[in-house]
Amino acid sequence: MSNRRNFLKYSGLAAGSFILPVSVSGSETSTMIKKKTGKPASMKLRFRPYDLQLNHVFTIANSSRTTTPVMLTEIEYDGLIGYGEASMPPYLGESQKTAAEFLSKVDLSSFSDPFELEDIIAYIDSLAVGNHAAKASVDIALHDLVGKIVQQPWHKLWGLNRTKTPNTSFTIGIDTPEVVKEKVREADIYKILKVKLGRENDKEMIKTIRSVTDKPICVDVNQGWKDKQMALDMIQWLAAQGVVFIEQPMSKLAVDDIAWLTQNSPLPIIADEAVQTINDVAAASKIYSGINIKLMKCGGMRNAWKMANMAKALGMKVMIGCMTETSCAISAAAQLSPLADWADLDGNLLIGNDIYEGTKVVNGKITLSDLPGIGIRLK
Ligand code: MG
Repeated sequence: MSNRRNFLKYSGLAAGSFILPVSVSGSETSTMIKKKTGKPASMKLRFRPYDLQLNHVFTIANSSRTTTPVMLTEIEYDGLIGYGEASMPPYLGESQKTAAEFLSKVDLSSFSDPFELEDIIAYIDSLAVGNHAAKASVDIALHDLVGKIVQQPWHKLWGLNRTKTPNTSFTIGIDTPEVVKEKVREADIYKILKVKLGRENDKEMIKTIRSVTDKPICVDVNQGWKDKQMALDMIQWLAAQGVVFIEQPMSKLAVDDIAWLTQNSPLPIIADEAVQTINDVAAASKIYSGINIKLMKCGGMRNAWKMANMAKALGMKVMIGCMTETSCAISAAAQLSPLADWADLDGNLLIGNDIYEGTKVVNGKITLSDLPGIGIRLK
């Protein structure tokens, strides 16, 4: 089946049919190499759309939703399967359709084996601008595959201490005071809470949470505050309420205002929307205290690793974040988490139809599995 026909087939899936093609030849790309036995081994990429069902309606500064579209990928090589995932919340501009179109272009035939990560990922990046989540879905599957071939998880290959994983924050969505209190009680095992602010009722939201818990809170404004002096006043009030940092307080375009805020703020100011890829890190170091790295923004594990090391070299704080994702992409990000000052890896805990198991949260702390690669298996 041609790539184009394969794409059209997936376009048809948007209407609601949702069948896993066990083997879709057009979505497979093969690289033929000779193994020691003389038998050829090939890398086969497969992908299929999947819709994550959220346990609660998810509301941020500008939108609400109950599902998140993802694309699940697999790369099969020499009897092993590496798993990957693209998570595509609508406001970021990618979709199952654009991911299928992008993945249909992938042709790995010029690469001799999955270990050529640097070259393969540069090639994937060159296929089209943007498409960061689709690119991440290939990168994650390749990393999973390489880890499985050498029988080691990535935190070990990166030289990280698995006992140094941080606590993950758990997001409490914007809602009525009674529902917020209920959500905080449900979040009992988490040591740190994350709250989305940037609306009229910011102080009420914090006061409601403080009426039921004194746990540390991180605040994500998602660019919601419009005035720098109002933002600074709010941050000073939040610091007195036990808030530990502020994520993306104002528009990513308000560079001078945010730089001023960072200089004057008693709390670290973390870039999220303002930092997509490694190309944004150097500029962000002059404006923010730290960066929120997400695999779906930066194109996957390899770029995330580079960004984390670059940020640390520039004296910045590092946060590892996520979209709503299955345990696939969450476990991939968790491999990097011993490097992070903070982690916000609760995306798999917010959905009701995860098909993988891997990284767990034990007493609020990210706990890596013993499995190789990204550390997951199918449920
Ligand atoms: Mg954020």
